[in-house]
This record gives sequence, C-alpha cells and structure tokens, in this order.
Amino acid sequence: MSRIPWVDQELCISCTLCVQAAPEVFRMGDKNVSQVYNGTGAPEVKIQLAIDGCPVSCIQWRDV
Ligand code: SF4
Repeated sequence: MSRIPWVDQELCISCTLCVQAAPEVFRMGDKNVSQVYNGTGAPEVKIQLAIDGCPVSCIQWRDV
C-alpha cells in the first residue's frame, strides 16, 4: 500500500505554498485552488513539508 496527498479544495485559500514546496506534486488548477497532479512525484518527506506548511491544513494523506 502507498499513499498520496489529497487537497480539500473547498478549504484551499490559494496561497500557493504547497506548489512552491513540491511543484512536482501540486499545481494551481482551473479554479485557482491547489490540485494534486502527480501524487508520487516527490519523496514523502518533501510532500510532508508541503502538508505541514499549508496554513489551513487542507492537505491530507490518502491510502491508495
Ligand atoms: S498550501 Fe494549502 S491553502 Fe495554500 S494553495 Fe496549498 S492547499 Fe491551498
């Protein structure tokens, strides 16, 4: 089992910090909110830093 990050787009405030922290994983989508486009695109440690840096804590791990 592995896991990928998931963004609750209802809560995202479009600050772009996660995109800056892990651009291989997150990008700003059509609604100008963050989306995961490559959930395994960076080491988990790097993704975790992006998760921890989200000011509204709207990124979570999801098992896949
Ligand atoms: S860090 Fe959080 S609030 Fe900021 S763009 Fe990413 S998901 Fe949205």
